Amino acid sequence: ADATYDYDVLVIGAGPGGYVAAIRAAQLGLKTACAESRETLGGTCLNVGCIPSKAMLHASEYFDAAANGAMAKMGIKVTPELDLETMHGQRRDAVKQLTGGIEFLFKKNKVTWLKGRAAFEDAHTVDVAGQRVTAKNIVIATGSSVTALPGVTIDQKVVVDSTGALELPKVPEHLVVIGGGVIGLELGSVWRRLGAKVTVVEYVDQVLPGFDGEVRKEANKIFKKQDLEFKLSTKVTGVQVAGDKATITVEPAAGGAAETIEADCVLVSIGRRPNTEGLALDKIGIEVNNRGQIEIDHDFRTKADGVWAIGDVVPGPMLAHKAEDEGIAVAENIAGQHGIVNHDVIPSVVYTWPEIAGVGLTEEQAKANGEIKVGKFPMAGNSRAKTNHEDGGFVKVIADAKSDRVLGVWCIASVAGTMIAQAAQAMEFGATSEDIAYTCHAHPTHSEAIKEAAMAVTGKPIHV
Ligand code: FAD
Repeated sequence: ADATYDYDVLVIGAGPGGYVAAIRAAQLGLKTACAESRETLGGTCLNVGCIPSKAMLHASEYFDAAANGAMAKMGIKVTPELDLETMHGQRRDAVKQLTGGIEFLFKKNKVTWLKGRAAFEDAHTVDVAGQRVTAKNIVIATGSSVTALPGVTIDQKVVVDSTGALELPKVPEHLVVIGGGVIGLELGSVWRRLGAKVTVVEYVDQVLPGFDGEVRKEANKIFKKQDLEFKLSTKVTGVQVAGDKATITVEPAAGGAAETIEADCVLVSIGRRPNTEGLALDKIGIEVNNRGQIEIDHDFRTKADGVWAIGDVVPGPMLAHKAEDEGIAVAENIAGQHGIVNHDVIPSVVYTWPEIAGVGLTEEQAKANGEIKVGKFPMAGNSRAKTNHEDGGFVKVIADAKSDRVLGVWCIASVAGTMIAQAAQAMEFGATSEDIAYTCHAHPTHSEAIKEAAMAVTGKPIHV
């Protein structure tokens, strides 16, 4: 350790980016501290994001399977009764165990947790709750917060953000979700399954902006079958709350006659913005870009010498696994190694039922870049999905027409989030569609659909 400083590495923020960076730095022999202003470690992801949302999705999926007759079809007749408090309890338990797990890992790896908000004094000094701490390297991993809708106040009762939507004390009669992105669809699904009427209002003409076009269309069809209602190409112009009811005013995105929707709960899920307020970035000469993000180079260095940044606060998809991988890479770079994240191969998953996942280019992006071949395989042709009575969904493999190198893979399937890992790995290794087609896949598994979609690239799947 360099005696000039209190620490070799100080990480600001203990989300999946920050806590992973801190642990890796300590594993590499660097004296490391991590400042976190929350009461618990784990950031957005463990406290109010990935983990609690998955706890509610998992539990509500069971409830729905019992309620909608899916279990009865398999000879299990039950009439479910909702005990929402217990469902919330198991969510809180999952969060507690996992955030406690990070605390344990900090202790095990000798990472010091500095409790409190950090603000820069200079590029090697921060103030953490009144305490002056110096470090040779400082990693900004402050994450992101919910984007507000101008003029709409989040009261966490009638008008909630994702954090409030995880904790509703009762099932709403009518939940209006503003924003048809991943978070809105996941949380909308939770409350729909538990009995709420759910209407999703989306500004653009299809849900899941950024996903492959065909996947978006198919997803929309599936969600409609699950009785989620959609108002696409529609903008919200106001939300009026009176007592425990809200009136949402909407109008066509292109302009036109306004209408109102009555609801007892409104979820604002229009996106997230990077957390840089209060960091005193001006003291170290860093300005944010027009999206509020901190710009970095290939090695995660900011403009300020000795200051690095990773995760939701820098450009790229706002995803926990992207933040984690950047956390490992930045620590390795600080230690003089060569940490790299391949930003072309970062999977995205929507944990609805079925799950929706993709990695690499969409068909639209790939087409715009050059000649491509596309292989598609329906989940209806997959024996395991069929056996499990799962209908709907497909896998699509997009390959370069000349080299056959896989450019993107998209799946809608019950376990698409798990399936997409093999596609990411294949792409990381520079696989061709033929490589996947000639890899032996265990039978009967959902993953065979990826193999068959790869076979379909050359027009020769078997089971369709
Ligand atoms: P964060 O997790 O936001 O952590 C930053 C931490 O820094 C926070 O704990 C904050 O308190 C702390 N902090 C900020 N400023 C300071 C300061 N000045 N001093 C000290 N501490 C500070 N991603 C997925 O990949 N999969 C999912 O399934 C998924 N589901 C999600 C569901 C929801 C409802 C939400 C809201 C998000 C979800 N995400 C998901 C996104 C994921 O949570 C984020 O991409 C991820 O948490 C980003 O990690 P991070 O380390 O950059 O920042």
